Amino acid sequence: MNTIFLHKTTMENLVKDLIGQGYLRNPEIINAFYRIKRRDFLPEKMKEKDTINAPLHIGYGQTNSQPLTVAFMLEVLEPQEGDRILDVGSGSGWQTALLADIVGDQGHVYGIERIAELKDFGEQNARKYNFVNITVTHGDGTKGLRAYAPYDKIIVAAAAQEIPQSLIDQLRVGGRLVIPVGDTTQDIVVVEKLAEDKIKTKSYPGFQFVPLISDNNIK
Ligand code: SAM
Repeated sequence: MNTIFLHKTTMENLVKDLIGQGYLRNPEIINAFYRIKRRDFLPEKMKEKDTINAPLHIGYGQTNSQPLTVAFMLEVLEPQEGDRILDVGSGSGWQTALLADIVGDQGHVYGIERIAELKDFGEQNARKYNFVNITVTHGDGTKGLRAYAPYDKIIVAAAAQEIPQSLIDQLRVGGRLVIPVGDTTQDIVVVEKLAEDKIKTKSYPGFQFVPLISDNNIK
């Protein structure tokens, strides 16, 4: 009988796979994937699954996003050092921390999360890295986060039915918004704001996200 050895994939191997498959290209994003450990952003019982390339449950019906999807979205967002970025649906805080690592101390990442417990969870997770450039707010991100607008970049981790106008309004001219749009499956839509009243969009089909829920009872 043949013996089958099951080797646990490491996060390093997962990152190498994402590079090999062409999902990760930008060295700053790749370095962030190596430095910011996904397991630090998972509930205790999910930590062992950190290297699985799939969304993982973080409670409240929500997930820590699939690494492939995070890689794809960050690459099309094109975050730069010094950027001010709004991260809608910050959840576990993993993507927020990846972005904070990329933009550095001259930049800032503003997370917004509609579930108060997850806002706290994400904030506590990110604190493990002593970031001074992360601010997380409890609120409805479909309205953006006017207090700190305009943003160089906006990224949304949940699926919208249509692109919220508030997010376009809160993007600076020359800025970029990355947002999943659609019903049962979604397109990841990249919006470039060319002028105050002019945008250009490009869509990448075939993704699946939890819904972006508009909630008038919070902020
Ligand atoms: N990047 C996060 C991560 O990896 O943990 C993604 C988390 S999950 C895929 C999407 C998150 O969007 C959930 O935490 C959900 O509560 C949040 N969300 C949904 N609608 C929202 C809204 N209107 N405003 C803010 N957050 C929202």
